[in-house]
Amino acid sequence: MKKTKYIYTNADNLKCGEMICQKCNQKITSGEYRYKEMNHKFDFVGYVSHEHKFCSESGDTGWAIREMELAQRLNQMKEKLVAFESFANQWNTDALDEEIEYMKGILQ
Ligand SMILES: [Zn+2]
Repeated sequence: MKKTKYIYTNADNLKCGEMICQKCNQKITSGEYRYKEMNHKFDFVGYVSHEHKFCSESGDTGWAIREMELAQRLNQMKEKLVAFESFANQWNTDALDEEIEYMKGILQ
């Protein structure tokens, strides 16, 4: 079997494949999960392996890294929002309005 990296995501944003957790056999309907593509050596048909976050958290540092990255992205967005709002006010432009609304929606 080819070893591939896990992809960490959220079922509320992205669903792929059968969405059945390999650890608890339950369907993944919402919340965070990880998945990876699996390929058998002599089989060209790959499949996707899924696991709930709470079923795969222990022993996987990928989750901590994901949380750190998400936090970093939110902090960057906060800084950008301040800068965008300041720019929009100073230059009396609505060119950034859509972006500002988008960021406010995420950060609230
Ligand atoms: Zn599970």
